[in-house]
Amino acid sequence: MPDDILRMQGLDAHYQDFQALYGVDMHVDTGEVLAIIGANGAGKTTLMRSITGLIANGPGQILYRGVDIGGMRADQVARLGLAMVPEGRQLFPSLSVEENLVIGGQMGRRGPWSLEKVFALFPILKDRRAVPSTSLSGGQQQMVAIGRALMSNPDIILFDEISLGLAPIVIKDIYDALPGIIGEGMSAVIVEQDITKALSVSSRVYCLQEGRVSLEGASATISREEISRAYFGIQ
Ligand code: ATP
Repeated sequence: MPDDILRMQGLDAHYQDFQALYGVDMHVDTGEVLAIIGANGAGKTTLMRSITGLIANGPGQILYRGVDIGGMRADQVARLGLAMVPEGRQLFPSLSVEENLVIGGQMGRRGPWSLEKVFALFPILKDRRAVPSTSLSGGQQQMVAIGRALMSNPDIILFDEISLGLAPIVIKDIYDALPGIIGEGMSAVIVEQDITKALSVSSRVYCLQEGRVSLEGASATISREEISRAYFGIQ
């Protein structure tokens, strides 16, 4: 069993003629929280979508527990134990809160997460279980998106732009819930525009700049100067 649960090697991604990722090398150790930062358009979402089978990657490998999952369909990847909380939530608007959550549980994977456990993590969702997901606030919708991913009992969970567009108080609630989410050996990747938050919850961090890894380091020791250079390309 490799120490890393996920490893990208020389990963490229394209949208027609446009190349969005260039030879990305990255790994996530089993049980760690990894942060990925980078400016708008750096390629963070493209990387998340490549890993979870939502877009085809070009040359390069995506190894999950040592097995190449590049080219697998999103549902196959989910059944193997990779879950994503997508940017913009992407809930099913015609379904209730509870129905959205139950869909996440239909991956056939066993584990600690159940509807009751998600309701214990985010009690407001229990109160609002029967209402359409679209009638929730942005923060509550993010809680549903997180709960839906947890219901699939993943081994690794990818959060794309976890706090984008949410009020500070809601962001705090979601970050406060993270230790309870990530416990029990689950690995996580957090894509975050708020660099301070990203560093505070992660053990390591990568920065992407124009589709390339511009920095890798330990979150506790990396300097602001290194981050500024990697983020903005300032020499
Ligand atoms: P953001 O924080 O704005 O979401 P990001 O780091 O997640 O940024 P991506 O969304 O992965 O960046 O975009 C990387 C590059 O790919 C950008 O130049 C973007 O314009 C381009 N891109 C993203 N999606 C598409 C698409 N569907 N078709 C064409 N180009 C795209």
